Amino acid sequence: MNNSLQTAGILAIGDELVLGQKLDTNSQWLASRLTELGYEVITHQLVPDDQQTIADAIQTLMANAHLVICTGGLGPTLDDLTRQSLADVLNDKLVTDDQAIAQLKAFFKDIPMPKANLAQALRPAHAVCLTNPVGTAPGLLYKADSTIIACLPGPPSEMMPMFDQLAEHHLAQQHADNAIHQRLIHTVSMGESELATKLGSLMDRGNDPAVGTTASGLIVTCRLRTTGNRAKLDLIENQIRQHLGDVVFGVDDQTLPQTIISLLKEQNQCLAAAESCTGGMLGALLTAASGSSDAYEGGWITYTNEMKQKCLGVPADIFSQQGDGAVSQICARYMALGVLKHAPDVHHALAITGIAGPCGATPDKPAGTVWIAHASRTSEPDVRLFHFKGSRQQIRRYACISALAMLHRALTHAAPRRLVFERTPSED
Ligand code: ATP
Repeated sequence: MNNSLQTAGILAIGDELVLGQKLDTNSQWLASRLTELGYEVITHQLVPDDQQTIADAIQTLMANAHLVICTGGLGPTLDDLTRQSLADVLNDKLVTDDQAIAQLKAFFKDIPMPKANLAQALRPAHAVCLTNPVGTAPGLLYKADSTIIACLPGPPSEMMPMFDQLAEHHLAQQHADNAIHQRLIHTVSMGESELATKLGSLMDRGNDPAVGTTASGLIVTCRLRTTGNRAKLDLIENQIRQHLGDVVFGVDDQTLPQTIISLLKEQNQCLAAAESCTGGMLGALLTAASGSSDAYEGGWITYTNEMKQKCLGVPADIFSQQGDGAVSQICARYMALGVLKHAPDVHHALAITGIAGPCGATPDKPAGTVWIAHASRTSEPDVRLFHFKGSRQQIRRYACISALAMLHRALTHAAPRRLVFERTPSED
């Protein structure tokens, strides 16, 4: 078996990618999968739909990497040129692949097949077609002694299953000994620098497993990476959990809303929400988690003062000249209590009211001022003030994540902690 590290280059093809109209997510996904399989990914490249440019890029990558993966440009239209470029590189003619024709006919068995689709059954003479289980564009595979070139379709939903087949049949075994194992440990409620301080020497450069952090929104993720023995990750994960404690909420693909839904289900409890400045975003995040209907009952989007009064029973005097207004501790508290009152079966209520900006801000309530309340049947409402910084969209998202963080801490009986961006009212 060849245990030396194999290199891989990724080529994303498409005008829309080069022009920035579309984000190249394929390369990100492929790089992560290839790394797991033990390849050293040496480059990602983007090229437009130009036959010569694609051919030149494939040629250069072939000279530098053991494996070249291209995505895009396999469709039936005139700007789909990958097939022809690969033929140029291999100095091959394009020939019709009988099996690909049969698969195209099967795909179009109930509807007439546009003539242009026949072009998708063409392949360079020395390449083979890769079956597309979900679309019309077959992939292409060329294998020589020291090089593999695979061309996969552009749409991620077609590219991913085709890559998985490719990995299973042509790549995986070969490189298992070099496999790089990775794990993500997600946290919320703690800033990145505090987290890094707590991890201390676990993050030293040169450690194996290597530990790094990334922050996205209010979620800070520890990235663990090792080669060879996967068990090393378990060991370091335990140490990280010991250092960070109750701010850890999930691993790898697990999201905060999924964790919340699971915790609620485990405890036979459910939740409803009242949203003002987030306009339903909290509900959208929660319902993106599968199985959410078992634990999220729904909510109210009470954007105006009138809706807050009518739907949730927030007293009118809060909105009067002398009152504290919609963006206030008392309003958030009434909103959460209103949810508990009007959704008699729920155990928890979250309420969010704030100024997402840029308009609506005042000197004493700048954009980013948000009050969030968590109320339950068994304890006094927890109402907190936040001063988020960022764009309107970021502020709204931070508000949702902070509300979920408050609930996460309540459901896990975590120790009291000041959350990221939280202010005490006296600091206002
Ligand atoms: P099709 O048969 O759909 O034409 P194709 O292989 O020719 O497949 P393209 O036409 O290049 O692929 O792209 C089809 C769609 O796939 C694009 O509109 C884009 O939405 C998506 N796509 C292509 N490349 C990428 C990429 N690198 N990352 C994310 N999406 C991509």
